[in-house]
Amino acid sequence: MSLKPNLLIKVLASIASFGIIVGAIYATMTWAAGQADETAIQRQDSLVRLVVSKMQERIAHDQESATVWDDAVRKVREGDREWIDANLGSWMHTYFGHDAAFVIGPANDLIYGYSDVDTDPEKAYSTVSLKVRELIEDLRERLATGDTSGLSRTMLSIGETDIVSINGSPAIVSIKPIVSDSGEIQDVAGKQPLHIALRYLDADFAQSLGADYLFAEMQFAWAREDVERRYFPLAARDRTAMGYLSWKPFLPGTAVLQATKPAMILGTVLVAGALAGLVVLLQGRADRLRKSQGELYYLAHHDPLSGLPNRAAFKAEVEKTLATSEAAVLFLDLDRFKQINDTLGHPVGDRLIVDVAARLKSAVSAGAMVARIGGDEFTVLVPASKSVDVEQLAEQLIAAIRQPFEIDGQPILIGLSIGIAFSSPGNSEARDILRRADIALYSAKSTGRNRYVIFGAHMEEMAKTRRDLEQDLRAALDSRTQIEVHYQPVYAAENSHLIGVEALARWRHPIKGLIQPDVFISIAEDAGLIDRLGEQILQTALADAKKWPSLSVAVNASAVELRSDTYALRVAAALERANFDPSRLEIEITESAVLGNEDACRRNINSLRQLGVGFALDDFGTGFSSFGRLQQLDVDRIKIDRCFVAAYGTENNNGIVQAMISLAHAKGLKITAEGIETNEQKAWLCALGCDDLQGYLLCKPVLPEMISDMYNRLRAVNSQK
Ligand code: C2E
Ligand code: CA
Ligand code: CA
Repeated sequence: MSLKPNLLIKVLASIASFGIIVGAIYATMTWAAGQADETAIQRQDSLVRLVVSKMQERIAHDQESATVWDDAVRKVREGDREWIDANLGSWMHTYFGHDAAFVIGPANDLIYGYSDVDTDPEKAYSTVSLKVRELIEDLRERLATGDTSGLSRTMLSIGETDIVSINGSPAIVSIKPIVSDSGEIQDVAGKQPLHIALRYLDADFAQSLGADYLFAEMQFAWAREDVERRYFPLAARDRTAMGYLSWKPFLPGTAVLQATKPAMILGTVLVAGALAGLVVLLQGRADRLRKSQGELYYLAHHDPLSGLPNRAAFKAEVEKTLATSEAAVLFLDLDRFKQINDTLGHPVGDRLIVDVAARLKSAVSAGAMVARIGGDEFTVLVPASKSVDVEQLAEQLIAAIRQPFEIDGQPILIGLSIGIAFSSPGNSEARDILRRADIALYSAKSTGRNRYVIFGAHMEEMAKTRRDLEQDLRAALDSRTQIEVHYQPVYAAENSHLIGVEALARWRHPIKGLIQPDVFISIAEDAGLIDRLGEQILQTALADAKKWPSLSVAVNASAVELRSDTYALRVAAALERANFDPSRLEIEITESAVLGNEDACRRNINSLRQLGVGFALDDFGTGFSSFGRLQQLDVDRIKIDRCFVAAYGTENNNGIVQAMISLAHAKGLKITAEGIETNEQKAWLCALGCDDLQGYLLCKPVLPEMISDMYNRLRAVNSQK
């Protein structure tokens, strides 16, 4: 498992703080252990001191068992060496373990001597006497002065004791006078015989001391040489050092500490491990939580298809930006995206959106934000601080989208319209700038696609005008007097005879005057008025055309109308009511009408065709997949769009038109060329084999009275024939 650096830091920090706590506990324990050890050592020292002094006392006490005794006084006076040996000498060695015993007379002369280290008592005493002379003198003086200090029920006679070094070995020496126990025998004070007992503080002594009082490895040492050991200094009364009793001190604190150490280390490791595990676990949980929060946040703020920020995120960003600075907002809308989606399917549409998003993103510099706010609607936010030339950016975006896309090997061409709005110092409302960009986009789309439009104050006016017009159109439809129909004649190519008319709607607004269909058809579509409008136009056209029985009449149908389930029914009813020959009526539809709701469209077309109504595909060549569409649609005619006519003579164009015509002919369709403005165009289209011709060159749309005049003149000519 590899830890992320910050997680590692957290784990280490937790372990470190745990370590500090453990360290503090350990330090406290060590301190307490030290205190316990210290107390224990002091006790052991006191014990040794006590034992040594008790030993001195005991030797004195041992001596008194024989020195305070009438017999002893007597036998010493007599010089009974045997008796002395049995009671004051070797006996004391066997019985009390004394190492040497000497009895000296009033002049400190050796009366008796015993030593278990030296077979020659004289020599032994000569060594000892040097060390104990002062003690002897002291004692005799005290005896002479009748000093009785220190006497008690258990201490019957005064004495002197000290620790002396004999031949390099420390020894307890105790001196007692040999006195009468009954008081019957008296010596001269200070001149009593003395008994000197010696007990070496040697290995033997140390060992038995250790065994008796449970000191570990108790031994005699000349110097302090081992820090682990305890040393009790043996010293004479005059403080002369005599070496040490040394033992391994019993350290209860350390012992406890040592005993608990493994458990403590194990516990520490376990707790640290558990702690680290816990931190990793919690961190993992926090990470997951943060991640899922992040994912939720991402989902709430991003468009899942393109990965771009969504509408909500964009709006929030605009608000944020406008709070501190000026900015430009671009509204982008793909031209003809709906058609692609409908013809090639949603999966292709989705992939196109993804590709478009990628291109937009790479065209927009860092610092600007691209968002997808709807099906084929994108937005760009450019903060003023980025000092981006917004118009140049708009051009770049359009150019980027204009480049053909390729999906599944199929080239796809689409366009882009852009509306731009700049924030103004007085107005930092996000809602306002978004609305303005939207209005500008609308303007861009309605004034021709693949372009950008910057919001101007007049557009707000336009938007208002549009709302006003919508109201006025409602009133116009109610009044049934304002909607007029003009007619543009259609001529046979072969002989230029008038053969039909195309009905084109006009709105005679009571105040604004004549309004063109380009303006009000889309308003009617948006406002849901197109069905009523279409019906009025159809009724008017049928009524007018009744006067021109030999002419066909073409009526334009809006895409919105054609998708309605009741369209065919309404047309049939109008034909019925006007008692009009259905075969004289031709309905012009555009490709986009058929897209999206093909079933409803086809049903409308088929049922009307069964009545004899003809259908023409208008604006042919501008749609998305014109040729493909021809296979599926049951139409009688195509109308070559006037942009192809206007482009007469330019490269490629003539070939395309020629191809369209031969294809249509091959399928048995009639062909009308519309928008003919020059004789060259007319001659060219005639030569290519167009059936019918239409255009300003031949005749502009005119009032029905004009058509009546033309029709009557035609009849006059014909009847003359
Ligand atoms: P459209 O169906 O393609 O109609 C032909 C348009 O081309 C007409 O414009 C006509 O005046 C114009 N035109 C004809 N010859 C020439 C020419 O030689 N040069 C030029 N530059 N233009 C020419 P109009 O009447 O303004 O209609 C515009 C569009 O409005 C129509 O295009 C049609 O799509 C729609 N429209 C017109 N009347 C109706 C209607 O009653 N119902 C529906 N749904 N749409 C209508
Ligand atoms: Ca038309
Ligand atoms: Ca047309």
